[in-house]
Amino acid sequence: MARKLLLELADIPQIQNIDTYISHGGYRSLEKALKKMTPDEITEEVKKSGLRGRGGAGFSTGLKWSFLDKSTDKPRYLLCNADESEPGTFKDRYLMEKLPHLLIEGMILSSYALGSNTSYIYIRGEYMFVLRKLEKAIQEAYSKGFLGKNILNSGFDLDLYVHPGAGAYICGEETALIESLEGKRGNPRIKPPFPAVSGLWGCPTIVNNVESIAAVVPIINDGGDEYAKIGLGKSTGTKLISASGNIQKPGVYEIDMGITVEEFIYSDEYCGGMKDGLELKACVPGGSSVPILPRHLLFRESNGDSRRMTYESLSEGGFTSGSMLGSGGFIVYDEKQCIVRNTWNFARFYHHESCGQCSPCREGTGWMERILHNIENGRGTEDDIQLLWQVQKNIEGNTICPLGDAAAWPVAAAIRHFRHEFEYHVKYPERVFDADHTYQPEIQQTYSLTT
Ligand code: SF4
Repeated sequence: MARKLLLELADIPQIQNIDTYISHGGYRSLEKALKKMTPDEITEEVKKSGLRGRGGAGFSTGLKWSFLDKSTDKPRYLLCNADESEPGTFKDRYLMEKLPHLLIEGMILSSYALGSNTSYIYIRGEYMFVLRKLEKAIQEAYSKGFLGKNILNSGFDLDLYVHPGAGAYICGEETALIESLEGKRGNPRIKPPFPAVSGLWGCPTIVNNVESIAAVVPIINDGGDEYAKIGLGKSTGTKLISASGNIQKPGVYEIDMGITVEEFIYSDEYCGGMKDGLELKACVPGGSSVPILPRHLLFRESNGDSRRMTYESLSEGGFTSGSMLGSGGFIVYDEKQCIVRNTWNFARFYHHESCGQCSPCREGTGWMERILHNIENGRGTEDDIQLLWQVQKNIEGNTICPLGDAAAWPVAAAIRHFRHEFEYHVKYPERVFDADHTYQPEIQQTYSLTT
């Protein structure tokens, strides 16, 4: 049975109530941190833990904190990025809904470490029901003296606010989030300067994901060294994975970093295997923006080792034969699912969510959506597949923010690994689908063998 550092208390009745949370050991880290540790010592523990940003980038959290500009008199801010909008990713919602006080406890610890006296949780507008739970939990924390002035007589003050977004995926990009919080349209900024130097209102700002901030609680309770003992190599600790697709048990799981992909998909402890007796065809391991991996690349690295649920193992082979752990949005596809349709669906999402500042993203996402729509609906040509490849290439690396890359990578991987499905759509549009629009694996097989 895997250990649980974050979700251990998730199933306890009334755990959203502060008294229940405290009776199960909640908020005990505050006494230790605020009275016995300096802010720099907390940062040091987070560095020792090896914690890496859980929002998708996987950058060292402790290192990011150390970039915060402390040479100025300006206020510093901690912003929690709860704008979880990546298709396939729903782990932060689960954590906040089940354990709002864990996030608040992590916010207090992290704010103390960074010297932030005013911190914000920026939550996606669609999570209004979670926002209400967080606001109630924040009021409870104020009433216990965990927020406000002179917390636990430590001399540290903190005000914490929850701010809803208005439903734009791009506001999950940290500089767009800052713009939105300032009351403007959520357009990403050109970096540098990075938020650690000039962020909210031009002040030093750290933006961290929900799961990253919650992980600070077990790190302070048990010590960074203990946290670093869990996991594999540079992927330390536990990770929340939101699993969806045609598996027996979709849901949110806390795994030890380093378990094999096979174990995650097929063991009863996690996904429980495929549904309806179908074979696994492919998997998107880290949310819609990371490359899809076909079955033969999912279970084995190029050196023959089992592929594992770590940042390093899932990206082994680069984008030619690897992918990314990303946000932990694990989407599983069975043999009957159509990769072209799935790719079109993703492309439609990114076209809709492009903020429009850069031409390659604004125009390119639209072109990709239209070309994919034509291929999917039997109006595509061989040249369209090449054009699609060219458009995604022209987007990648040529935009202000990572949304452009996020739109290009799934298209590139789909063509790279499933070109035969695109070609089949073009050549035999009338034969690809059955009545309920599912892919016919036996047709694909016949076609693959004869080409
Ligand atoms: Fe906007 Fe797309 Fe450019 Fe990002 S890449 S700034 S979303 S147009």
